Amino acid sequence: MTRTVIVGGGIGGMALAAFLEQQGEDYVILEQAEAFDRVGYGIALWRNGIAMLEELGVAENVFGEGYLIDRFEIRDSAGDPVTSVDLAPHERMLLAVHRADIHDALRSVVPREKIVMDAAPTGVEMKGDGVKVTAAGKEFAGELLVGADGVHSWVRESVFQQGCEETDTHLWWFWLPEGMTMPDKLALIWVQGSVVIIGKNRHQGLVELGATVRDGQDPEDVLEAAMSEVGGVVEDAYTRVDPDQVFHDTAKRVRLPSWTKDRTVLIGDAAHAVHPITGMGASMALTDAYALAEEIGDGGSVQNIFGRYEARRRPDLKKTRREELFLYRTMYTSSPVFHRVMKSIYPFLPLARYYKRRLRAHL
Ligand SMILES: Cc1cc2nc3c(=O)[nH]c(=O)nc-3n(C[C@H](O)[C@H](O)[C@H](O)COP(=O)(O)OP(=O)(O)OC[C@H]3O[C@@H](n4cnc5c(N)ncnc54)[C@H](O)[C@@H]3O)c2cc1C
Repeated sequence: MTRTVIVGGGIGGMALAAFLEQQGEDYVILEQAEAFDRVGYGIALWRNGIAMLEELGVAENVFGEGYLIDRFEIRDSAGDPVTSVDLAPHERMLLAVHRADIHDALRSVVPREKIVMDAAPTGVEMKGDGVKVTAAGKEFAGELLVGADGVHSWVRESVFQQGCEETDTHLWWFWLPEGMTMPDKLALIWVQGSVVIIGKNRHQGLVELGATVRDGQDPEDVLEAAMSEVGGVVEDAYTRVDPDQVFHDTAKRVRLPSWTKDRTVLIGDAAHAVHPITGMGASMALTDAYALAEEIGDGGSVQNIFGRYEARRRPDLKKTRREELFLYRTMYTSSPVFHRVMKSIYPFLPLARYYKRRLRAHL
């Protein structure tokens, strides 16, 4: 019997495998995809997530592909600065990087034979002393089952009977067409009801739009309006990018009173997907993986391991939820009056100090 059966080999699942590998523990990953293609979006990885890559000894590979951000700015749609945050480069607080580069680095320390591809589970059975998962026409027996299968988690739906909540935020995401470059600084641009983020990794510029879409509104109209309000390089890039290369989805949330049930535990988005405006989803998945691997290594009964893991990770989620609410309400506001009020308040917020303290708190 394998000790830990991990469903989902994304950021959290692969990180958990990497930490368990480092500890010499027994595990298997069941991943639904047939292959890990180099698709996806850019991620802003904060200090807490970077620290997890350092723990695994793979941070330098990721830094080699990413772009270390030493300052980010918030601007209004006319391009006027609202505020800026300086981040000392030596503290390595924020890295913009392709999701695939984080994933490749994690995968580099997980032996290929521990990953079963094209293996979306079709059944799960809890027994007194173990759990049995059916996938890819085989049975995988383990002591613990970890649901690391993202926001649409099959494990969460099957074991906890709970789905995810839709939000009114739509996300569009694209890499800049070849030959176009972005300014060096990461910038968040406030448009009414929307936030446009521009940045780059080592190789390419990127644009993300998060926009509130109200009932009766056509998301495409909202996208077009935001692009033309921001104008400049963003609008130019949008008109030149191949529409098939524009990722579009809605932001989801997951809230659960407990992440553990019987012999099952959830990590990452499967447990607690947060709104992307926090920029914390990947870092939290990595930190969950670190904490759970450590608790598995420390041993004890399954209930004990799960209890210690959840007690360790809940306070971080609580802080992130508070930030989520604040950022969502202030940045996505559609009210011009509230926008003006926030514009006058933001410059006085000690954001740099806040981020440093916040991100050090759970290293
Ligand atoms: C547009 C966008 C921008 C984002 N930007 C940021 C950002 O800047 N910073 C940040 O920190 N976070 C960001 N996030 C969030 C971040 O990507 C996620 O929080 C993070 O990837 C969560 O990791 P995870 O391992 O829980 O899930 P995922 O990385 O989604 O991995 C889930 C894995 O499970 C597999 N899977 C799914 N279902 C099954 C199944 N039934 N059986 C087997 N395998 C299955 C999937 O194929 C995948 O490999 C962004 C998200 C989006 C959509």
